[in-house]
Amino acid sequence: MTAQPNALEIEDLVLHYGPVRAVDGVSLTIGPGRVTALVGESGSGKSTVGRCVVRLVKPTAGVVRIAGTDVTHLSRRQLRPHRSAVSIVFQDPAASLDPRMLVGEVVAEPLRLSGRMPRREREARVASELERVGLRAEVARRYPHELSGGQRQRVSIARALISEPRLLIADEPTSALDVSVQASVLNLLADLQRDIGFACLFITHDLSAVEYLADDIAVMYLGQLVEKGSRERIFARPAHPYTQALLAAAPVADPVRQRQRQPVLLGDDLPSALDPPSGCRFRTRCPLAFDRCASEVPAQVAVGDGMAACHLVQPDGTRPDVRAADTSEVLP
Ligand code: SF4
Repeated sequence: MTAQPNALEIEDLVLHYGPVRAVDGVSLTIGPGRVTALVGESGSGKSTVGRCVVRLVKPTAGVVRIAGTDVTHLSRRQLRPHRSAVSIVFQDPAASLDPRMLVGEVVAEPLRLSGRMPRREREARVASELERVGLRAEVARRYPHELSGGQRQRVSIARALISEPRLLIADEPTSALDVSVQASVLNLLADLQRDIGFACLFITHDLSAVEYLADDIAVMYLGQLVEKGSRERIFARPAHPYTQALLAAAPVADPVRQRQRQPVLLGDDLPSALDPPSGCRFRTRCPLAFDRCASEVPAQVAVGDGMAACHLVQPDGTRPDVRAADTSEVLP
């Protein structure tokens, strides 16, 4: 039996919009059937990485391989046979679903474009796909605006999965939804991923949302990855001060644990990607920053099965603890 190729390999991805360095040297691998959460604040470049993978934007440099095929330099026509290998679910289903198309047409569109299936068969597939995401088959004859936000996002998920992709890009799939339906859509995605076994790049600003969904976590700050590792390791022993701050800010379900936590607040807003800080890009907000952080870009230090890019992280995985530092300077 031949081993399946990785679902996604990104090498040294760069995307500059004119002077804006939106993505600056990101490398990431997702094995078959694995889920990696790409986490960071808005403006960190994480959604841009997802858009480069599905080629909504063309990277400035670097390599993107999907299921073993280098798609970085393929033309639109050359890309077509590989289109079904990767799908994307966007943040806002109201904006991403064509309001003039019936739900059934929306969901069937990837099959229609690939020309792989006769119409009657397509209709049956649409019905079973809608049921798989928890909607009744009759929804196919309604328009997107007749549905609730949660139902519309289920339609987006059905459309993304109907072509049986090896890789799903889920770009903040619940953040435009009412809080009351966010958990049910996340649970649906987790159940589908377990049942079908597609790999997933789950893009989110909310670390608490990844606790039950991700195998691995990659943390992005101002266009670069600052830490990667297994979910267990990152939650138990985050090495980078930025990951520690994000985790400290994420709400936890257990009220006792929540009360025991000492929040580490990130003082200022994210600096501009137009003119990122010299040396370590996190240094203007890092409570542990020292002289070297301004002059030297931190190398990626191997930590467990991943890495952290910080001058204070040791190769044996010992880490600085932001909570032990005097954080009064960065608290607003
Ligand atoms: Fe903080 Fe310096 Fe480490 Fe950057 S390199 S995270 S500024 S201690």
